[in-house]
Amino acid sequence: LLAEDGSVAASIFAEMSALAVRTQAINLGQGFPDEDGPALVLEAARQAISDGMNQYPPGRGQPVLLGAIARHQQRFYGLTVDPGSEVLVTAGATEALAATILALIEPGDEVVTFEPFYDAYGGLIGLGGGIHRTVPLRAPDFQPDLDALRAAVTDRTRLIIVNDPHNPTGAVFPRATLELIVELAHRHDAIIVTDEVYEHLTFGAPHIPIATLPGAWERTVTISSGGKTFSLTGWKVGWLSAPAAIVTAILAVKQFLTYVNAAPFQPAIAVGLDLPDAYFATIAAEMQHKRDVLATGLQRAGFDISVPQGSYFIVADATPLGFSDGAELCRRLPELAGVVAVPITAFCSPTHRAEYAPLVRFAYCKKVELLEQASAQLAALP
Ligand code: PMP
Ligand code: GLN
Repeated sequence: LLAEDGSVAASIFAEMSALAVRTQAINLGQGFPDEDGPALVLEAARQAISDGMNQYPPGRGQPVLLGAIARHQQRFYGLTVDPGSEVLVTAGATEALAATILALIEPGDEVVTFEPFYDAYGGLIGLGGGIHRTVPLRAPDFQPDLDALRAAVTDRTRLIIVNDPHNPTGAVFPRATLELIVELAHRHDAIIVTDEVYEHLTFGAPHIPIATLPGAWERTVTISSGGKTFSLTGWKVGWLSAPAAIVTAILAVKQFLTYVNAAPFQPAIAVGLDLPDAYFATIAAEMQHKRDVLATGLQRAGFDISVPQGSYFIVADATPLGFSDGAELCRRLPELAGVVAVPITAFCSPTHRAEYAPLVRFAYCKKVELLEQASAQLAALP
């Protein structure tokens, strides 16, 4: 986890945001929105502070948020979860992932993820002493080869981590793939960890939580966060739901990671989760429009892209522009076009990195004018 000179190696997201600030380029690298979430939610946090909700909340989370998470799972997915025993509030999805992985694996256990994978998965599996196995997702549609998935999951597999909708590719897995994951988890007695932080950002078929599939709930940890759904990435309010015994095991680890999480943000995120259906439909429709603006811009600029079905990222192949190394392109993109992006190799294991070399990720969770500006600047690429 350290750089060669012994300093902390900055994550690719922090590195690229720093590059954007330094060069004053448009930051389509790190995935964070450039507008804050709903006014009602922001006001609820101010109110909670004024109301004196400023000391340690309960370890599992503020009851008002636990209840809202349970209602959300029921309203959108028909899942009945007990707020008192089957839900846990965490410091973002990141802490939910950390506590889950550290609680559920022993050193030497295998953990299967898809590849490219969100960078924290690799780091956390390493912290837990696990062995990371990956199933590649390849362009153009970034869907897994099902035989490769069957081959990756064995009796040594303790966890299968699924991220659907997927960062960085924007892929959404069809039901048949999710069903195979459940079948393999049963056959090999593995637990499924599903990272659904982009659950409300799908542009075609509605999101399917794995926990809703037959036989899945009892071996699934479902993780999400207020960061993406309410455009409040800096609040770091996340959560998970799972059967009570699994939540208890994860809580045992969580108590020594953060103990509890920011008290006044929790009732505010509860207000967000209880917003009417129209809010959730609108954020998906607006994000789909942004996707279309940037997809058109990237195509005009000469990149090869496939249009993503979810999340707020789009992968572009720089080969037609004469770049075989996406990392080099990302380093030069501020000077060439005044734009920052992230190389897909940052989401890859050393084994597979070369296969993804010409691919770069652009985040489109930005104002439409900014995406149009970025598109115009990219069109001038040589
Ligand atoms: N998982 C994925 C797939 C993500 O993209 C992110 C961050 N954007 C996270 C987890 C972390 O979420 P949080 O900021 O809530 O910790
Ligand atoms: N999840 C966001 C991304 O993929 C940012 C994460 C981070 O900064 N660690 O860009």
